[in-house]
Amino acid sequence: MKLVNRKVSQFVAAGFIALTLLTVTSATASAADATPNFVIIFADDLGYGDLGCYGHPTIRTPNLDRMAAEGLRFTQFYVAECVCTPSRAGLLTGRLPIRSGMCGDTRRVLFPNSAGGLPAEEITLAEALHDLGYATACIGKWHLGHLPQYLPDQHGFDEFFGLPYSNDMDRTNDGPKGRAAFDEPHSEFWNVPLMRGAEVIERPADQTTLTRRYTEAAVEFIKEHRERPFFLYVPHTMVHVPLFRSPEFENRSARGLYGDCVEEVDWSVGRILDTLRELGLAENTLVWFSSDNGPWLTFGQQGGSAGLLREGKGSTWEGGMREPGIAWWPGHVRAGVVSQELAATLDILPTCVALAGGAAPTDRIMDGYDISRVLLEEEASPRDHVFYYRGRRLMAVRKGAWKAHFFTQDSYGPGAKQATEHNPPLLYNLLHDPSETTDVAAQHPEVIEEIRRLVADHAAQLVAPPSQLELTLP
Ligand code: MG
Repeated sequence: MKLVNRKVSQFVAAGFIALTLLTVTSATASAADATPNFVIIFADDLGYGDLGCYGHPTIRTPNLDRMAAEGLRFTQFYVAECVCTPSRAGLLTGRLPIRSGMCGDTRRVLFPNSAGGLPAEEITLAEALHDLGYATACIGKWHLGHLPQYLPDQHGFDEFFGLPYSNDMDRTNDGPKGRAAFDEPHSEFWNVPLMRGAEVIERPADQTTLTRRYTEAAVEFIKEHRERPFFLYVPHTMVHVPLFRSPEFENRSARGLYGDCVEEVDWSVGRILDTLRELGLAENTLVWFSSDNGPWLTFGQQGGSAGLLREGKGSTWEGGMREPGIAWWPGHVRAGVVSQELAATLDILPTCVALAGGAAPTDRIMDGYDISRVLLEEEASPRDHVFYYRGRRLMAVRKGAWKAHFFTQDSYGPGAKQATEHNPPLLYNLLHDPSETTDVAAQHPEVIEEIRRLVADHAAQLVAPPSQLELTLP
């Protein structure tokens, strides 16, 4: 085994004995040689078009832009579902949420009166890495079950600091009703608990300080665990409405309140990457950045942008599920690459576990692929398809360039009441038509047949347990 980025202690005699730490880097370094640390920074409701490096004209994201310039930025990177809870379940298990029961039709996410959560039988990335000797922390919004049996400490995380669910749940009686509470956001309007481990330490949480306090906790965790492999998961509460930022970020962005909040998340990314650099851990840490789902467009200027993609959060049009996806690992992940390969948050578990020298679970169907060779070498992605679920319904399927919509439905609002079925499906060539404007089903019946076969294969081996999201407390 070659020595890569490994501290080697040597006794050096020079009249006295000194302990010297020497870092040896092999010119033929390969990922398998190291046991890298992993950091996943996961924004909430941030759209494909909300970062400078993804083309936003007025939001400044110098730290994410630098991360992309030093790493690899995907242009076709997908989440597992188009709303918070199922998307997170997919990220942490490498499995479509339909397989864990972490999606629902009448309730699409978990709420404070939910009785369900991520089942104990699921193997999370934290558990898989914990078994390999990693220290683990979840710092930010959990949203995979707030009852004690579902909290992060039950799913492989040594530490948890953050919110159990979304920051717009649990209103107090202090604020205005309806949407007005979002216009002039005050933390007191929201009775959201801030937790450390399984304890509530502040309620309502002071939401103006969340991004900063998550960042401080993340930096602290990295410093404390610098000597051993660690997995740090930072699912930010921002930029989910109601929007909050610290006083230092007030009125800083030309994009207004939403831009202020994105810019504070960008600052947070900078703090984490700088900490890794300062501690000499950058070349031994793979950092991912993405967002759980597309922008919440019904909130107008308080929602983000999917750029040229159609629709947003809650929808299986591209804007709901295609997200920024950046991977950074200096000296390992190819630098300055903009990759058009298909990839997904589902791929993060198999990729990280493989890089850590382990193996993804083999006793269950996994929906993710090890994409390490896309990151480290110039290989084509093993992923050639994407399943687009909305709750428990398979709405659309992408195969290669082609996406067939069997059902469409607006995200939120009046058009969201019912799905429209399409037979034959609507068909778009996403390479030619990323905005999904021109249905070409009539010209390509053979593509539809191929996608139907993929759907039939998928359906034939699908076991979908009852929804955890539709269970409520008495
Ligand atoms: Mg979300």
